[in-house]
Amino acid sequence: MSTLSSPKASEPRRKRSRAESDCTMQSEDAFSRDGRFWYDDGNIIIIAQGIGFRVFKGLLAAESDVFRDMFTLAKPAPDLSRELVPDDCPVVHVTDTAAEIRSLLAMLLGGRQYMRRVKFEFDDVANCMRLAHKYGIQDLVEDSLEELKRYFPEDFESWEKSLVCDQLTKAITAVNLARLTNSLSILPAALYRCCLLSGKQLLEGRVYMGALVDALSSEDLARCIDGTAKLCTLNVRSAQELFAPLENADCVVSGGRCNASIATIRSEWVEGIRRGSCDVLDSWGQIICSYDRKKKPKPTSPLCGSCISLLKHRDVEIRKRVWSNLPEILELKESVEEAMPQDDT
Ligand SMILES: [Zn+2]
Repeated sequence: MSTLSSPKASEPRRKRSRAESDCTMQSEDAFSRDGRFWYDDGNIIIIAQGIGFRVFKGLLAAESDVFRDMFTLAKPAPDLSRELVPDDCPVVHVTDTAAEIRSLLAMLLGGRQYMRRVKFEFDDVANCMRLAHKYGIQDLVEDSLEELKRYFPEDFESWEKSLVCDQLTKAITAVNLARLTNSLSILPAALYRCCLLSGKQLLEGRVYMGALVDALSSEDLARCIDGTAKLCTLNVRSAQELFAPLENADCVVSGGRCNASIATIRSEWVEGIRRGSCDVLDSWGQIICSYDRKKKPKPTSPLCGSCISLLKHRDVEIRKRVWSNLPEILELKESVEEAMPQDDT
């Protein structure tokens, strides 16, 4: 079986280096023990990239029909590795990476509550999702998706407290996993994060572990290029709307001084938005609070607490609207909109 086939133009690209391919070929002859998953009483050895994982046939076969069928094709260990294993422990070769197999085994052999408790790293979750899909372990695909939603949520409230990946290019991996497993509800957030990447990052894709490349399909790449332009325009428009004059009967400062401050802030920020900056979902909350008239030293454009509250509310409302328009901005098909939870507001 193979995870690799010639990518069609419309498919995400996931490539492996020559060194890695060579490694896979050598693994037909010899392998070394994995440092973590080698149980002396294990009864099957899975070999990935020349690393052997000695585990329990029954446990994996119970989780996955694909594993069960694969184990019926297991062969005796190659002569070169005879000293490592007894005769009754057959081997199977897989085309996955050793890291992917390690992530999957950690999840399957560690118990299903493990993911929630331990908080797996993004790449472990991604590996699990990819392999759970390949090996037909649907509930693990769903568990992995729930974890991915912590980074790429499907509703605005969750977006406000979502985690940001340490490498922004991980959004590319998330898009490709969403496509692979038809988990379309995370696509708007994941593609939005892709729009924040540089052109070079988008074109080159995400390189990780020195060999693997996750790159967007040409269709998703086009969505990001067009989406970035639209989001940039929207970012300027949203800032103009945010810092439009307030009608606030509860303003505690006389003489319209808060609105004068807002006008100054508006001209400073709207002009100051960096050309090409499209992070329109980024909150203005902290910036708005920095103009609090009670701050010391007093800001040059001070705002009263009541006006600050109104501006912060406006900021949330504007960004909520942008969020609900993401499927349209990113030209995602109707099916994605159906997959998104409906926003009450
Ligand atoms: Zn005021």
